[in-house]
Amino acid sequence: MTAIKPQPGIMDIALYVGGKSHVEGVTQVVKLSSNENPFGPSPAAQEAVKRAVHEMHRYPPTDHANLRAAIAEVHKLDAERIICGVGSDEIIAFLCQAYAGPGTEVLHTEHGFGMYRISALAAGATPVEVRERERVTDVDAILAGCTERTRLVFIANPNNPTGTMIGLAEIERLAEGIPPECLLVLDGAYAEYVEGYDGGAKLVEHRDNVVMTRTFSKLYGLGGLRVGWGYAPAEVIEVLNRVRGPFNLSNIALAAAEAAVRDSAYIEKCRSENARMRAWLSDALAEHGVPCDTSTANFVLARFADQAEAEACDLYLQKQGLIVRRVAGYKLPNCLRITVGDEPSCRQVAHNIGLFKAGAR
Ligand code: PMP
Repeated sequence: MTAIKPQPGIMDIALYVGGKSHVEGVTQVVKLSSNENPFGPSPAAQEAVKRAVHEMHRYPPTDHANLRAAIAEVHKLDAERIICGVGSDEIIAFLCQAYAGPGTEVLHTEHGFGMYRISALAAGATPVEVRERERVTDVDAILAGCTERTRLVFIANPNNPTGTMIGLAEIERLAEGIPPECLLVLDGAYAEYVEGYDGGAKLVEHRDNVVMTRTFSKLYGLGGLRVGWGYAPAEVIEVLNRVRGPFNLSNIALAAAEAAVRDSAYIEKCRSENARMRAWLSDALAEHGVPCDTSTANFVLARFADQAEAEACDLYLQKQGLIVRRVAGYKLPNCLRITVGDEPSCRQVAHNIGLFKAGAR
């Protein structure tokens, strides 16, 4: 046995288990477990990938200038305040590496995204969980949970896996109330799904203690290529770039993301289709006796009577080739998180949950 031991905190990390994509013995599955865009990326992004393949032997640019310029143009932001990462996961990790560490605390909400805790522990910091109010981020609880050791406060807005969100006034109150030596990180992985919400970008421009993170993995349909970005005060960007590897994004990923962000018409189509099917799915499940919280994202959190019923329903759905997500690890044992798929997938999952509630096993 090796004598070398991992750093304190590392063995407290529970391995992240992603959404399933296979079921033993089932050849055709409908995957509704990872909040992916059921329509995939924009055709323009697919074409850009084909072209970028020819650059495989070249190192990618280190400054991501073209992608940052495209994001800045489309979102009307300052390209100098943008940093790109291997998914927004990497931006979360950069923030923890650069600003948290032994003796500091990283706050996240009760049902907050799992990578906050993992990245905090990996950086040697102490993750601190703060309760929510009825599965909604509770600003007062977060402010009460802050100490002089708090360096980062992560909230996902909309939140995964609850789908709920808080308004801009509440976010501003949070930014105003956190301790001076602390950054508020607004995780906007699902921000594009909310009509008229900028993910907190304006707030970043007006304050020196707010960072926004975004992703190409959800509405942009590029989860497999791993591209995310952050928007932050200039001095924070300068710090984060010091921990970023020079070639963190591939030529292929950069080209795809640039084309995807410029194809606003495709994105709008996907957003409105998601809104339509999300409403349909929530109503259909409620009719079958499975209520969902009002979701603002591309998934619904379906609530069952108890853990046993949620697990039995999950197994029943798997037998029909339908893969949804158990969220017991997020302390929601009686719930299943279901990605809003295309219309046939939504109809199929609702129909089968109906059969399950009527006694099918
Ligand atoms: N934040 C939230 C709230 C998420 O749900 C996810 C993906 N599940 C991420 C960040 C990370 O996404 P990615 O690394 O693919 O950008």
